[in-house]
Order: sequence, then structure tokens, then C-alpha cells
Amino acid sequence: MPNSQISDANPIWFDPTLCLIGGAWQPASSAETLTLVDPSDGAELCQIARGGAADIDAAVKAAETALAGDWGRMTALERGRILTRIGQLVLERIEELAALEVRDVGKPLTQARADAIALARYCEFYGGAADKVHGETIPYLDGYTVYTLREPHGVTGHIVPWNYPMQIIGRSVGAALTMGNACVLKPAEEACLTALAFAHIAQEAGLPAGALNVVPGIGAEAGAALTAHSGVHHISFTGSVATGALVQQAAGKNVVPVTLELGGKSPQLVFDDADLDAALPFLVNAGIQNAGQTCSASSRILVQRGVYETVKSRMAEAYEALTVGPAIQDHRLGPLISNRQKEIVEGFLEKGADLQIVAQGHIVEGAPATGAYVQPRLFSDVPANHALAQEEIFGPVQVLIPFDTEEEALKIANATAFGLVASVWTRDGARQMRLAKSLRAGQVFLNNYGAGGGVELPFGGVGKSGHGREKGFEALYGFSQLKTVAAHHG
Ligand code: NDP
Repeated sequence: MPNSQISDANPIWFDPTLCLIGGAWQPASSAETLTLVDPSDGAELCQIARGGAADIDAAVKAAETALAGDWGRMTALERGRILTRIGQLVLERIEELAALEVRDVGKPLTQARADAIALARYCEFYGGAADKVHGETIPYLDGYTVYTLREPHGVTGHIVPWNYPMQIIGRSVGAALTMGNACVLKPAEEACLTALAFAHIAQEAGLPAGALNVVPGIGAEAGAALTAHSGVHHISFTGSVATGALVQQAAGKNVVPVTLELGGKSPQLVFDDADLDAALPFLVNAGIQNAGQTCSASSRILVQRGVYETVKSRMAEAYEALTVGPAIQDHRLGPLISNRQKEIVEGFLEKGADLQIVAQGHIVEGAPATGAYVQPRLFSDVPANHALAQEEIFGPVQVLIPFDTEEEALKIANATAFGLVASVWTRDGARQMRLAKSLRAGQVFLNNYGAGGGVELPFGGVGKSGHGREKGFEALYGFSQLKTVAAHHG
């Protein structure tokens, strides 16, 4: 399948206009297509299928057929071997997958490669875990033997956004397949090439027909049809709060569980006693990685007054050195996903017109004017209730907020509607423990940020950041349901 014609200019080695349904690649039933654009220059990249309700219905039926056939009969060991094989093939194709993401999402090459490696790692982790998830026996009344079984939900729906397609497919589709579900995946209309590539690779690895179906299309059409379909038994969604609420409503009508991962406004708390040399790279990178289009981006930096000016000037220095340019040139930042997203971010910057900009990065000379480039910006002394300190921007924008006491820092950190991740930089062990308990977040990092994104670490939010956990073994519990068997034998 690797294509000798692949190049930076033409990295697509499959027909991107097709959906995968029941093991067959086919056009959308309407035969309509959508235009995919390269955000580095705004030029057309290719056409993709505009799947709709009929295609989703066919995909759900194909998934049901797979569950009733070879896929449904496979042992955990056999499923695990397939996942592991997919991971191995992904590892062999890192450059091909990264090349797709560079053009499709505008990811700098280094980040695109990291995403492909993470996808492989999810498949390896879940492949190895497949036969290690089991129920338990429960001591009960005399004359009974009681045990639990972990069973797949059935057909699972996966709605994936454009910011980290490979990683999010790995953590949601990877875990769902591991537990024996059959998946219908609706990738983002602005970024679906690696979803299609992943499906080709999965087929090559021996995944039976119908275990994974991919229907690209528009959220309000294919996405809405998937969430409303009565044949879907579980939905995993990553994206905005507004769309997440719609997904939950649709799932509610069918009384179907949902996992929602809806982003955040994640803080880093820097205390006077922090190791600033260790903290500095994380303070900046957590805000500008993937051009700030990261659900767990750290957009709020809370700094104790004793080191506030030092942190401000050192972050400013780092910002001035940031370059933004075409993804293939592998600058620290590429373009945003689209000019639509650029407008959203610029709207936030207008809201910050009354604030002080400490420093900003630079768009490189020669970057196409039609690309979706935004200069990263660092704001200082931002009131904790300001829109820039409260709302998810999803662009390369960070705000510095000073504080005096631990109590005040905690109050500010917890005072948004979100709660995805948080980090604390301090050498005081007791303070680390206090804050780890009281910060409102699904993950707390002590003297680091993100912990390298480990696939083993359960991930998800509280409040408007969503609910349910993906990654690690928690995802395997989420993508399965527990059956209790009580045998009365006297
Ligand atoms: P959305 O939440 O609208 O899109 C995420 C996914 O949901 C996409 O696959 C989208 O499809 C799909 N979708 C859209 N509408 C529906 C629907 N009615 N039913 C089912 N699925 C649907 O995010 P946007 O792309 O519009 O980005 C807007 C903002 O969302 C960003 O600025 C950012 O703040 C946030 N966001 C957060 C993410 C995160 O990781 N937490 C990821 C992406 C965005 P399609 O692409 O075809 O519209």
C-alpha cells in the first residue's frame, strides 16, 4: 500500500473521497464531496466524501453485522493481536501519517510525527491490555456464586475533532475495539485524512469488515445522524461545549451513555519557591503547542508576586523567539486549522484590546497571506474574571495572573466553568498535596505539565470540561458494561 508517488506536495496514498462501510470503500450515497483545505496556504488539498444519514445508517448496520459475525466471536487475545499489529504498521508509517497531518491540519512536522507515534502507542497499549480486563467474583449469600463479566456496549459512535485526530482516534477507537465494540467514526470535516489512513492500516492489519467504519462529513449532518441513531449504544465525543451539549441531548433520547471531552481553561500555578528553570519551558509550551489548539492547553499562568516579574520577563523572552510559519517548515507554530478558527481567535484578541500585551511571536517572512496564521500573544496582569481568563480561546494566547497567597491562587484556579487539567510548581511538598486534592481538574501535575501525554493515564474533565474518562485502563471500563451473574446452587 505505501505509494512511491508520495511527496510533501502529494502525501495522499488512498482515495480520500470514499467512506469505509462494512469493509468496502465507497462514495457517499449522495455522491457529494467536500473540499479539504491546507491551512498553511488556504489552497484546496483534495475532495472528501460528504457522508450523510443514509451512510451513517449503513455504517451502523455494518457494525451490527460485524458484531454478529467474526468480530463479535473473536477472543480478547485475538483482538489484542490485531490492535498490536495496527500499532506496528502505524510505527512503520509514521512519516506517511505525519505528512498527511502536516497538509491537512497544518501541524508542524515534529508535532505531526509525535501524534503518529502516540497513535501507535495507543494501539500497542490497548493491544497488550485486551486480555487483561476481567470481571471479579463477589462473596455473597450462602448457596450463591456471583461474578461479573465485562462486555462490549455494541456499536460505538466516535466523533473526533480536528486538533489531534490521530491521538483522539487512538484513545477512543483503540479502546473501543479492544473491548470488542464495533465502531462508527465521524472525523472532523476539516481534518479527516489520517482517520481514513488509519482505517486502511487497520484493514491491512486484519481487522474484520465492519469492526471499524468511517463516514466523513459535516457535523450537523453525519455527526448528528450518528448521535441520533437508535442502533448506537455508546458515544464518545471530543470538541466544543456547545456541540457536546447537543450530542448529550441526542444520546439522552436513546438513553445511551456518552463520554464528553470538551476542553478547558487549564491553569499552571507558579509559587515563589518553584524551580523556574524547570518550569519555564512548560509554562510556554503548554500554551503554544499545536498553536494553542489543545484541549489541555494551559492558557492561564498564575504567578506568585515574588517571582511574577521574573516569570513575566522570561516568558516574554521565550515568546519573542517563537516563529509561526508553514507546517512543512516545522516552526514552533504552524497555522490554525482554518481561517474560521483564526477569526474566532482574533475575536478574543479584540476582547483583550484593553489588556497589556507583554510579548508576541513572529510570523515568518514568506508565509502565505492566505494561510491561517496568528502571532502567539502573552498578556499580563489579566483580571481573573476577564473573558481571556475565563473562555477557551483555542489559539496561541496565554494570560499571566498575579497572586499573593496559596488560598488566592486556588480560588482563581478553580473559578472557571472548566476543569480539565492543572499544574503546580512548588518545592513545598505539603502544598503540593493540598493543591492536588483541592484543584478542580481531571488531572493534576506536580512540577510538570502533561507528563508527556502518557496513554496510560486516565484523562477527562469535570464541569464544562465534560465527563467520563479516556486513556489508560479507565477507557476500557468506559467502553464496556458490567454484567453481574448470580448463580444459586444451594
Ligand atoms: P465542534 O465541537 O463543533 O466539532 C467537533 C466535532 O463535532 C467535529 O467532528 C464536528 O464535525 C462534530 N459536530 C459538529 N456539530 C455536530 C452535531 N450537531 N452533532 C454531532 N457532531 C457534530 O468544534 P469546532 O470544530 O466547531 O470548533 C469550535 C470550538 O470548539 C474551538 O474553537 C474550540 O474552542 C472547541 N474545540 C475543542 C476541542 C477539544 O479538543 N476539546 C476540539 C475542537 C474544538 P465537523 O467538523 O464536520 O463540523
